[in-house]
Amino acid sequence: MLLDVSCKIAIIGAGPAGLMAAEVLSDAGFAPTVFDAMPSAGRKFLRAGRGGLNLTHAEDLNLFSSRYFEAEPFLKSALKTFNPNDIRKWSNKLGFETYVGSSGKVYPLDKKAGPLLRTWLRKLKKNNTQFKMKHCLVAWSKDIWQFQTPDGLKEYSFDNVILALGGASWPSLGSTGAWTKILEDKGLTINPLKPANMGFNVAWSEVFKEKFSGTPLKNVKLQSKLGEFLVNEYGVEGSLIYAHSKYLREQIEKNSPFTVYIDLFPHRTQSKLKEQLSTKRGKLSLSAFWKRFGLDGIKASLLREVLEKDSLVEADVVAKTLKHFPLVLESFRPIEEAISTAGGLSFENLDAGLMLKDFPGVFCIGEMLDWEAPTGGYLLTAVMGQGKQAGEALLSHL
Ligand SMILES: Cc1cc2nc3c(=O)[nH]c(=O)nc-3n(C[C@H](O)[C@H](O)[C@H](O)COP(=O)(O)OP(=O)(O)OC[C@H]3O[C@@H](n4cnc5c(N)ncnc54)[C@H](O)[C@@H]3O)c2cc1C
Repeated sequence: MLLDVSCKIAIIGAGPAGLMAAEVLSDAGFAPTVFDAMPSAGRKFLRAGRGGLNLTHAEDLNLFSSRYFEAEPFLKSALKTFNPNDIRKWSNKLGFETYVGSSGKVYPLDKKAGPLLRTWLRKLKKNNTQFKMKHCLVAWSKDIWQFQTPDGLKEYSFDNVILALGGASWPSLGSTGAWTKILEDKGLTINPLKPANMGFNVAWSEVFKEKFSGTPLKNVKLQSKLGEFLVNEYGVEGSLIYAHSKYLREQIEKNSPFTVYIDLFPHRTQSKLKEQLSTKRGKLSLSAFWKRFGLDGIKASLLREVLEKDSLVEADVVAKTLKHFPLVLESFRPIEEAISTAGGLSFENLDAGLMLKDFPGVFCIGEMLDWEAPTGGYLLTAVMGQGKQAGEALLSHL
């Protein structure tokens, strides 16, 4: 097999982290080569655009950086190099103005990822970034990087490498987490990959499932956060659940099932609810009576999921259950279905520029590193920030 030494700087992984590193290097006059296992770049980024490409969040920077939990100190430099305002300026410069949605989430005006990604790739190619698609990294030994390609195995040697191989969620989009074996074999510490921003299994009754699968539960509160989530065939998913997915996953890992308490009427006190439910029902059916106070549909049926028939007429029991609805989470959904990945390459392997301490000239960035964050634009901001940070560190290294 011929050893290809023509690419001096390789970026392996054409997601937003790798592409941002390529941008920094090509802007500085270098000609990096981006390798990816898939036939085209940025497949997860494109998929992210389907529900509205949430690039970042407009909240206060201190609050913003607290979204990264224990990894906050390790991500400080990335967020300083490329903060939420920078990501907006970057998008604007590519020709895609952004706006702040009602919840503070920031989107391009059309909310789409396709036009932005195409423009970004055009800019990179014009700026001397080369792309080698259908190149799946399968081995790294000494200075030889081996890729599986449609033409068989190919070997390359590079002067510098940036690994941006992603996590393991939605593997059909390219990131499978198979890199963990390659890096473990080099003696690097990898914390197990786990689902983040995922759904949870709940043992709904057949009747409830049939009637309410696919129904959003709006205006509810989970641990002081207001929001909504979706009831579905297997249990629950959606933004309010994702916002707590780290905590819920950790509780389930300790002891399952785990019961989390939901406030189904956050804008009414328990005593107010009790007072309303204690008024005379007269000849009204229970459902019609509850409906008077806005208790109907999915919220009313949830009560029937957890209370015995006799308790449904007890105002204090019903009021208490509405304020502390016990949602029993049996387990969490697999990583393949999750929005993102927790765990990954430990930061202890890396220096301040995200270069592997034991392998000078090799950098690691993006979702493959051991951090997690809720949805809300925090994921893309961090991965692109790391791309910028490592790109700049590589420039200094060169
Ligand atoms: C449905 C969905 C919606 C999302 N929406 C949002 C959102 O609105 N806002 C937000 O902030 N985040 C969102 N995310 C998360 C965000 O897309 C990811 O955090 C981000 O894409 C991670 O970037 P990355 O570059 O680190 O990894 P990836 O985007 O996963 O890119 C890694 C690349 O490496 C390649 N690769 C992997 N292994 C190999 C190998 N062995 N050899 C060669 N190439 C390899 C992959 O093919 C892939 O192209 C969403 C995710 C999903 C699944």
